[in-house]
Amino acid sequence: MKYDVVIVGSGPAGLGTAFELIEKRNSLSVLILDKERICSGGLLNDCKQNYTFPIGFTEEYWTVKEAEKMLEIVEAHLNPKFLTKTDLEKYQKRAERVSSKLVNIRQSHVGTDKSKVLIDSLLDILRSKGVEVRLKTEIKHDIDAKEKLINIENSESISYDKLIIAPGRKGFSFLQDVMNYLDIKYSDNTLDVGIRVETRFEHYPIVKDYYDPKFYFPGKVRTFCTNSGFALVVKENYHHFHLVNGHALSTEKGQNGLVNFAMLKSIGLEAPVRSGQQMAVFLARLANEIGGGKPIMQRVGDFRAGKRSRLETFNLDLYDFKNTCDCTAGDLGLAAPSKIMRDIWKSMKLLDSIMPGLLHPSTIMYYPEIKMYANKPEFIDEYFAVTDDIYLIGDGAGTSRGITGAWASGIRAAQGILDKID
Ligand SMILES: Cc1cc2nc3c(=O)[nH]c(=O)nc-3n(C[C@H](O)[C@H](O)[C@H](O)COP(=O)(O)OP(=O)(O)OC[C@H]3O[C@@H](n4cnc5c(N)ncnc54)[C@H](O)[C@@H]3O)c2cc1C
Repeated sequence: MKYDVVIVGSGPAGLGTAFELIEKRNSLSVLILDKERICSGGLLNDCKQNYTFPIGFTEEYWTVKEAEKMLEIVEAHLNPKFLTKTDLEKYQKRAERVSSKLVNIRQSHVGTDKSKVLIDSLLDILRSKGVEVRLKTEIKHDIDAKEKLINIENSESISYDKLIIAPGRKGFSFLQDVMNYLDIKYSDNTLDVGIRVETRFEHYPIVKDYYDPKFYFPGKVRTFCTNSGFALVVKENYHHFHLVNGHALSTEKGQNGLVNFAMLKSIGLEAPVRSGQQMAVFLARLANEIGGGKPIMQRVGDFRAGKRSRLETFNLDLYDFKNTCDCTAGDLGLAAPSKIMRDIWKSMKLLDSIMPGLLHPSTIMYYPEIKMYANKPEFIDEYFAVTDDIYLIGDGAGTSRGITGAWASGIRAAQGILDKID
């Protein structure tokens, strides 16, 4: 089979491309392929949408003006119901007093139980416009760029005129294999490493005023992906290890009285470091090794006392809520590099002065939460092309860091293709 455009990955980046292409040129034959039975990224998990630059974007590739233009298009497709905020100034002033910043972001939240409905409706619209969608179909990295063929399971090949590869963060290694195979130069020298904090709602009440408050602290530490209502910490499964992450159900599912969010530190590595990805894998495997095959969790009370958490005492007395994620009670200090943990702990203290109560002994710190979206391919134009016919976009290619930015990357790549076709 031959298609004008084949899109690998049905996440927001791939969907953004498909919508832009088919709406601008409905005669194009477009195929979306995904190895999962449904898009597996953040559209499915929680689906918080941020509509204020630079959240979700990689700043080096976007200007405010351009991102805002794209966000209007994203909004028109995802139809967000914006959340209101209260008392923002109060929190902003408190943050300023401790040399930190709280930024005001336009946000909406779908919830994990509702996101599948959204994804299905987006795919239905695309199908109705003639886009073909093949799920449970994995692409191999050995792309024949000369003959313009991609290989899938069962020795089947598909022919393309233009190819979009948008495999997301989990497809980070796959993308590196593709780039190595096609001899595309790239670097991956930045990553975000941190913890997921889980606490009682009353110890982080700002979430009733601001669903996903974005705090920035000295030392390149920030809060990220806050979940409340019915909030759960989850394990993200990779080949040899697990990372932690978090999500929440829709408001209809009620409340479990908990909040979780990430505290991430951005790390820029310099030569002679070979690979940020390898460093991330190393850190993740160390933590999982110490945790007996699982991530580690430690109560703030134990951390402050300088002792490891233990399963027998994990839910006693002041440690009065049960962890929502099955991790190993242990010692973060053994697993997280001290520079990272020191800066995160400093920021936790600052956050506790903005929101007194966060450092209650019961608060849980899970480790590792790592974002490996820092592949930086050498693009040949501003449309994220790496060859005349191949485009790499989304979180896996480092052109975005969230749903809306990923969708915007897809639009930009589509515009590049349309420009070439015209
Ligand atoms: C648990 C979790 C919660 C998140 N919550 C949020 C949130 O609330 N808000 C937010 O803005 N961001 C969130 N994110 C981040 C968000 O998922 C990403 O920013 C966004 O989805 C990136 O879009 P993408 O299209 O680049 O990749 P993805 O959405 O990851 O999509 C990539 C797709 O490519 C497919 N794929 C990969 N390799 C292959 C292959 N070889 N062959 C075929 N298909 C392949 C995958 O199955 C996947 O469906 C979350 C991420 C996770 C993991």
